Amino acid sequence: MKMSQEQMGVRRTALTLLRVNQPTGFDCPGCAWPDPGHTHTAEFCENGAKAVAEEATLRRVDRDFFARHSLDDLSGRTDYWLGQQGRLAEPMYKPAGGTHYEPIEWEGAFSLVAERLRSLPTPDAAAFYTSGRTSNEAAFLYQLMVRRFGTNNLPDCSNMCHESSGAALAHSIGIGKGSVLLEDIYAADLIMVVGQNPGTNHPRMLSALEEAKRNGAYIVNINPLDEAGLRRFHNPQTPKGLTKGQDLTDDFLQVRLSGDQALFAAMAKLTVEAGAVDEDFVATYCSEYDEYLRFLDKLDWDDVLTATGLTRAEIERVAKKYRESERVIVCWAMGLTQHKGAVATIQEIVNLLLLRGNIGKLGAGVCPVRGHSNVQGDRTMGIWEKAHDSLLDGLRDEFGFEPNREHGLDSVDTLRAMHAGTVKAFFAVGGNFVAATPDTTRTEEAMRSLDLTVHVSTKLNRSHAVAGREALILPCLGRTERDTKVTGEQVVTVEDSMGMVHASRGRLEPASPQLLSEVAIVTRLAEALWPDGTSGIPWGEFRDNYSVIRDRIERVIPGFERFNERIEEPGGFPLPHPARDRREFKTKTGKARFTANDLETLEVPEGHLLLQTVRSHDQFNTTIYGLDDRYRGIKQGRRVVFVNAMDRQELGFAEGEHVDLVSIAADGERRAEDFRVVSYATARGCAAAYFPETNVLVALDSVARVSNTPVSKSIVVRLEHRTGM
Ligand code: SF4
Repeated sequence: MKMSQEQMGVRRTALTLLRVNQPTGFDCPGCAWPDPGHTHTAEFCENGAKAVAEEATLRRVDRDFFARHSLDDLSGRTDYWLGQQGRLAEPMYKPAGGTHYEPIEWEGAFSLVAERLRSLPTPDAAAFYTSGRTSNEAAFLYQLMVRRFGTNNLPDCSNMCHESSGAALAHSIGIGKGSVLLEDIYAADLIMVVGQNPGTNHPRMLSALEEAKRNGAYIVNINPLDEAGLRRFHNPQTPKGLTKGQDLTDDFLQVRLSGDQALFAAMAKLTVEAGAVDEDFVATYCSEYDEYLRFLDKLDWDDVLTATGLTRAEIERVAKKYRESERVIVCWAMGLTQHKGAVATIQEIVNLLLLRGNIGKLGAGVCPVRGHSNVQGDRTMGIWEKAHDSLLDGLRDEFGFEPNREHGLDSVDTLRAMHAGTVKAFFAVGGNFVAATPDTTRTEEAMRSLDLTVHVSTKLNRSHAVAGREALILPCLGRTERDTKVTGEQVVTVEDSMGMVHASRGRLEPASPQLLSEVAIVTRLAEALWPDGTSGIPWGEFRDNYSVIRDRIERVIPGFERFNERIEEPGGFPLPHPARDRREFKTKTGKARFTANDLETLEVPEGHLLLQTVRSHDQFNTTIYGLDDRYRGIKQGRRVVFVNAMDRQELGFAEGEHVDLVSIAADGERRAEDFRVVSYATARGCAAAYFPETNVLVALDSVARVSNTPVSKSIVVRLEHRTGM
């Protein structure tokens, strides 16, 4: 409430928060946790309220603001300060050689961007980024415009987060999405929450876990950090929550960073040795089981204990609970996906679940929890640099052009291409690419070397300050705001982490009369790109009536039958999931695939630690809501490094001492300066610090195999005393 009233005032706070996540309201622009069938009056969490308040703030960033602040000035500001300046109110342009953004008319902006894009040597010299807040309708038209333009360079924020999940699940079960719905959570016997901090990043998940507990579920938390949110939950929506609250975690395994693959392989080995395999399920639905058994046979316990940092007894305890449970769900987030071996780890989780048929039945399955409200929807709409031929064929048949079939660039490859000078223009719908990506110093160099950067944004952020030779900021409507067109108020749709598609209706007056919707910006740019209408695509029709966009989505993307009709149903509708719905596995073998990946134990040199980058509680991705992290006892500070107290003593650092963090990578060292040492309940040898401040420590080439996701959860670092400081 405190933060909402600071940003919106009392009346607007009440108006806005009573509409978030409501059937006739707007979808929370925070994470992608699904809405329960029966919503509460206040169907939001603390961080949802903060996300809404930041968007519905009464603060404005207009031409006077930009006249007062040069790009040099802005790039010297903290991410928190930038975010607190308010909503962007009008389109702005920075000419080549200019030091400040200046106002520009929309028409001028579109024709300028179109002219610059058309004058590129090849369409592949441009990259078109998407953040997970973009609606389905805008995402579908954006990828259509980009492919009509001639490239598949469609990097998106998923590249930094659940790309490893998509790659692993597509291989193992034939679809890159979680197979669990909310009713499965409520019906599970055992829920393992791995490498995830729901108390901060998906808070309403705690309500679902609380309900699962009431129904008898056993919850195991597996994480290098002992996070408060999973220990005990006071649900403010329940009388019990206002008194003693609900214990959530029944067992906690404080695994070492990057030790999860070894842990799940060991539990699989114990399951086989105990003869607890569902042989019928395996024989009927799975392939490559014998190869996997040979892998488990060779699995060495010493390697397991070194990699996990756990005792055999701890692992056997949870493995026993697994064997005793009929319906098991494994949930995870970035703690699994941002490691070199992330894809292998997630395949190992699937292996364990397959052994006892824990997929495609109520109360069981895989549950990667998405961190951005429509990141899964954007991928479903075709925002992917490696789109399947089925989508490209669909676009050809529906819109009459032959799309480029060459795979495009994801986020890391886009940065590599910027350094190589082959990508010269960057266009982003939402997001904060400069802060979200690794290797900050080099990334900022790359962005500044570009001919053109264009950001469609609601709020000011670092990516506006670190700009190309020419730069534009195109301010758009937020999810909370009315989007009125000639045919009336428009509805957009999103897809949550469990594949449920539902409507979102903005309810607030736009922050400025000069804002355009994401759909309007994409379609007007497209019209400027093809002023004579030669694209053959009716951009204007789409802009005037979003249900026409949905008609086309229905014809091109499977699973959206009766799209416009079904979004009128309260709660929306689930997209098909063959593995969940009927144990049909659309993999290369036509079966669910066991995967044997050699175990990898990360070597950490003497005197070094494994660091993971994390969010504070006052943060959503790169948006900093505040400078506290109360669940970890931090007040008014972001440059802190959490270290295990025994490691701190052995390494010779004092509590509260200020240090530099130095990472070592194949191409040299990187430094992040002036962090305060804080003793914290981390696994031995493991440390943690906030991003984006520590993204500078992640080398661009330090990526996960297969998914190319930056390795932000196992960075080899040393702490250095700051002498003479
Ligand atoms: S749990 Fe996620 S989607 Fe739900 S209100 Fe909180 S931030 Fe928003």
